Amino acid sequence: MNNTKLIDFLGQKHTLSQEQYRELLTTATAEDDTYLHKAARAACEKVYGKRIFYRGLIEISNICKNDCYYCGIRRSNTACERYRLSQQQILSCCEEGYKLGFRTFVLQGGEDGFFTDNLLCEIISKIKRSYSDCAVTLSLGERSKESYRQLKEAGADRYLLRHETIDPTHYGQLHPRQMKHENRLACLQALRECGYQVGCGFMVGSPGQDVGMLVKELMFIEKFRPEMCGIGPFIPHKDTPFGQQKAGSVTLTLRLLSCIRLICPDILLPATTALASLSEDGRIKGIEAGANVVMPNLSPSDVREKYTLYNNKAYAGHESAQQVQQLQQLMQSAGFLLSCERGDIERKM
Ligand code: SAH
Repeated sequence: MNNTKLIDFLGQKHTLSQEQYRELLTTATAEDDTYLHKAARAACEKVYGKRIFYRGLIEISNICKNDCYYCGIRRSNTACERYRLSQQQILSCCEEGYKLGFRTFVLQGGEDGFFTDNLLCEIISKIKRSYSDCAVTLSLGERSKESYRQLKEAGADRYLLRHETIDPTHYGQLHPRQMKHENRLACLQALRECGYQVGCGFMVGSPGQDVGMLVKELMFIEKFRPEMCGIGPFIPHKDTPFGQQKAGSVTLTLRLLSCIRLICPDILLPATTALASLSEDGRIKGIEAGANVVMPNLSPSDVREKYTLYNNKAYAGHESAQQVQQLQQLMQSAGFLLSCERGDIERKM
């Protein structure tokens, strides 16, 4: 089959063989990509129309007990100026976000032991009490199933936990030995069992990644069928072991976004900040390739530059929640509609 046929097939059957994925990922021409992006966009619009959902990202802490080789807030990075938001600060972010039209709040952070189950439950229930029409998404790394259960009980709706790579050996190249690939995957399973809308995901072009791994990522998405999937290019951070590595490819990220959309037409797929950081119009390109979520930054402005997962991270302009009106205009001029809905997955079964 040529690539056009493969793309048509993927759109109809939502699956390809290992060899076919490899073929598509390695041999797609610029024309194939245009065709692929169009097919993915059409698949998205069949479910969601022109609506793009927006989420307010609140970066609650950059203190982390982990030491992931790629991440700028890793424990060993002594150059990182640490902060932690107070409960009051987090609630103020939500208050401001609500006024700006946000109906999903994403609490993301390093694995900071200060945020115990009790404290998080208190914060989540307060948010849900004040803004009962809003969804709360957590992105706080690996916790116990019991913890996930309590946070769900307190009102959390969704959880983002990128698995980072599906390949166990590659996982070992990205993380110190203490961090276990099995545990990462077990957490995703536990989150699902607790009733969350679950988001997994991976970086594109992280050191040591090859196309065979990306093929396996797509096959994993087919099997796991996550409600959400976060993917973005790897971007080096100078004060990490990967500081001298090169960034992932925007073209390949867009190609993968489209494949994921065709595999799961109803998936919630963000055009990520990493994509926007590497490419001027990365957000729009991501959406044109099948993404349907954007996550502007709603953190207090004085901490934004401290939550530096990678260098040159975009947090001004369209990345800033305060400029959601400009984002709205940008979307409109590109033919999309920034939707004020909560934006849950619209899955038929
Ligand atoms: N501690 C939380 C949140 C992590 S930050 C957790 O473990 O889920 C969110 C995501 O940023 C990570 O999952 C990772 O995929 C991404 N990230 C971290 N460093 C990055 C880098 N240098 N380039 C691109 N993405 C990165």
